[in-house]
Amino acid sequence: MYNISHNFCLKPLNTFGIDVKSEYYIEIQSIDDLREAIKWVKDNHFEWFVLGGGSNVLFKGDFKGVVIKPGIVGIDVVAEDEQSISIKVGAGVEWDNLVEYAVNSGLGGIENLSLIPGSVGASPIQNIGAYGVEAKDTIEYVEGVYIDTLKSFKITKDECKFDYRDSIFKNELKGKVIITHVVFRLSKTPKLIVHYGNLEEELKLLGGMNIANVRKAVSAIRNSKLPDPKEIGNAGSFFKNPVVDITLVEDLQEKFDKVPYYPVNENLVKLPAGWLIEQCGWKGKQVGRVGVHKMQALVLVNHGGCTGNEVIDLAHRIRESVMEKFNVALEMEVNVI
Ligand SMILES: Cc1cc2nc3c(=O)[nH]c(=O)nc-3n(C[C@H](O)[C@H](O)[C@H](O)COP(=O)(O)OP(=O)(O)OC[C@H]3O[C@@H](n4cnc5c(N)ncnc54)[C@H](O)[C@@H]3O)c2cc1C
Repeated sequence: MYNISHNFCLKPLNTFGIDVKSEYYIEIQSIDDLREAIKWVKDNHFEWFVLGGGSNVLFKGDFKGVVIKPGIVGIDVVAEDEQSISIKVGAGVEWDNLVEYAVNSGLGGIENLSLIPGSVGASPIQNIGAYGVEAKDTIEYVEGVYIDTLKSFKITKDECKFDYRDSIFKNELKGKVIITHVVFRLSKTPKLIVHYGNLEEELKLLGGMNIANVRKAVSAIRNSKLPDPKEIGNAGSFFKNPVVDITLVEDLQEKFDKVPYYPVNENLVKLPAGWLIEQCGWKGKQVGRVGVHKMQALVLVNHGGCTGNEVIDLAHRIRESVMEKFNVALEMEVNVI
């Protein structure tokens, strides 16, 4: 059974720290609870929204409807062979607790994703990624419940249509499913991925090349670069890194010094959105109660007591200046509610 709370404060449940309420709030602990909750929501014709760790959402105002929080926990081994182990993880498990569990068990594959805030259930939604690794590299399949039929589903990795910060859950299945479990295949003989950024140098300082040290190195780099939401409200990268035609970069290189980019394929490249924003002079700027972080231009921050609309106004101003200067459209990574 689950409790239904009324006029529920969401401020501690979103990392931006926006002070909003939901009309109703339900935390579910099992698939049966989830089915009952969905039925109640549908019978009453309520709007609904699934909230994980609240680290990739921006609330524009109070939520008129029901916020459902999947609290299903547990990490169970479901298959094993000589090379790998498949583990089924509840949507309500905190992502970094899973990474810690894997590293402590000597299982490789997600150590580069250390310290990403949020829940396991949200990890396939935008195919979380960092330091050259994405959730899709280890996800085998995703389980959950369809809203319209209340039936369970199992969607394989290929069916998830994973892409850069994208998946079927942000497109065809958006608003149609709730994820209850994710199954990951982790390696007993991990291959380290250390080519990204200054990870290799940081690892050398730690000595041994192993997954425990990769976790330590990634955590150290992240702690030195990214603002801690407990100290200053934020949702990590606010925009995606835009993927553009290589010819645009060739044009830009004639006008600007050293435009950084990463090849995606023969024709497309990814531009670092943080660099574009910084070039427009936004890094470290404060506008009223919102601002752009002083160390990381891709992160918009709540300087205290701001509303979601203030963040969105700033985001629009940033988008306009990047469009004006570079002719590049920035797309939000954060889910605006
Ligand atoms: C400081 C900081 C650093 C970050 N660094 C990174 C990074 O390096 N890489 C990266 O990829 N992301 C990063 N993020 C973004 C964020 O951590 C991830 O997107 C994370 O997966 C969000 O998880 P969550 O549980 O908080 O999801 P929420 O923010 O609660 O929800 C995000 C979306 O997923 C949906 N959702 C959540 N759970 C479920 C479910 N069980 N079923 C169906 N839909 C669901 C929600 O409805 C919403 O649309 C960072 C955020 C912060 C604050």
